[in-house]
Amino acid sequence: MNVPFLDLQTHHAHLRTEFHCALDEILDSSDFSGGTAIHRFEADFANYCGTRNTVGVGSGTDALWLALLGCGVGPGDEVITVPMTFIATVEAIHLCGARTVFVDIDPQTYTINPTQIEARITSRTKAIVPVHLFGQPAKIDAILEIAKHHDLHVIEDAAQAHGAEYHGKKVGTFGTAGCFSFYPTKNLGALGEGGAVVTNNDELANRIRILANHGQTSKNHHASIGWNSRLDAIQAAFLSLKLKRLDMENQRRRENASIYHDHLSRLDGITRPFSAPNQLHAQHIYAVHAEDRTGLIEQFNKSKIGYGIHYPIPAHLQKPYWPLGYREGDFPISESCAAHLLSLPVHPCLSHDQIGHVVETITRFSNKGKTERSFEYQPTCP
Ligand SMILES: *Cc1c(COP(=O)(O)O)cnc(C)c1O
Repeated sequence: MNVPFLDLQTHHAHLRTEFHCALDEILDSSDFSGGTAIHRFEADFANYCGTRNTVGVGSGTDALWLALLGCGVGPGDEVITVPMTFIATVEAIHLCGARTVFVDIDPQTYTINPTQIEARITSRTKAIVPVHLFGQPAKIDAILEIAKHHDLHVIEDAAQAHGAEYHGKKVGTFGTAGCFSFYPTKNLGALGEGGAVVTNNDELANRIRILANHGQTSKNHHASIGWNSRLDAIQAAFLSLKLKRLDMENQRRRENASIYHDHLSRLDGITRPFSAPNQLHAQHIYAVHAEDRTGLIEQFNKSKIGYGIHYPIPAHLQKPYWPLGYREGDFPISESCAAHLLSLPVHPCLSHDQIGHVVETITRFSNKGKTERSFEYQPTCP
């Protein structure tokens, strides 16, 4: 048996005809940039998130960069975020000319540890960028309280958390702005690149829209130096179609995760991820902490199981950020995650047999010759 880490072919098979129709519509209208498909998706996504505005942009990286720029973050400013994230979070801060100040992650949730934030705030701090890593909502209440007390913006990196909820409210809608990526492998992925900023602040939405369109306030009038980062109309049309299936797919991801959770308990050298109560996890990634990750990977390769490593080198140890002056040992939780986390296939198209194969492989690896426990999956829903 083969268990791919992702299976976008199967994932998209259900929508093939609808994708073709959507493409035909755009070919007929020739609205390739702007137009109905963009307005429709922006309205759909704002409605889905429960926010006043969605501004479609070119990528998740651009969403973060433009949101920070729109909040006035620039040279001389500091922005607080975590080293355990995809590099784009940090890139966006530096593209604004600001400096990153890192805070380690919480050992349970792998999201920013709010108890360590306040010690890093200075007179130059402008914003906190919590990352809802792997689809798990960050500890928003505590973060918002600190931000309010110090008059800071909270820009949520929700690139891995479309549809995740914190106490019944969608992530991305708590801070000044929320940033999403529609990179193909994300929970809501385009058939190409895309991103969006969501915000309840109309003025900020307008500023970002202008920045993403050459600083143009009306035809041929450019109020600021902007950039070209508009969401592609064809992608917007595809995204509106895929959005309808997002909740169902996230639910499948959670079901897959809960099967892993039930069957990977009490295994030597394997620690399951924590999922906080009262929250809806988007389960973009399901990563186990493996004492011997190299050994487990070897076993996965032999058993034809795909995997991911998110992320093998934390941002503070990546070369472009060496000048920030951080060293190995500065962020022990992030560094331990970088060395030991292994992401298992959790995508919505996995079959029970495939999940069983992963569970059996990990169990056999962990038991090393001791009696094998066999995988017996009991379906929970009819
Ligand atoms: C994917 C991702 C991004 C960047 O999104 P792109 O669309 O690839 O630019 C930013 N932050 C995190 C946490 C991500 O996972």
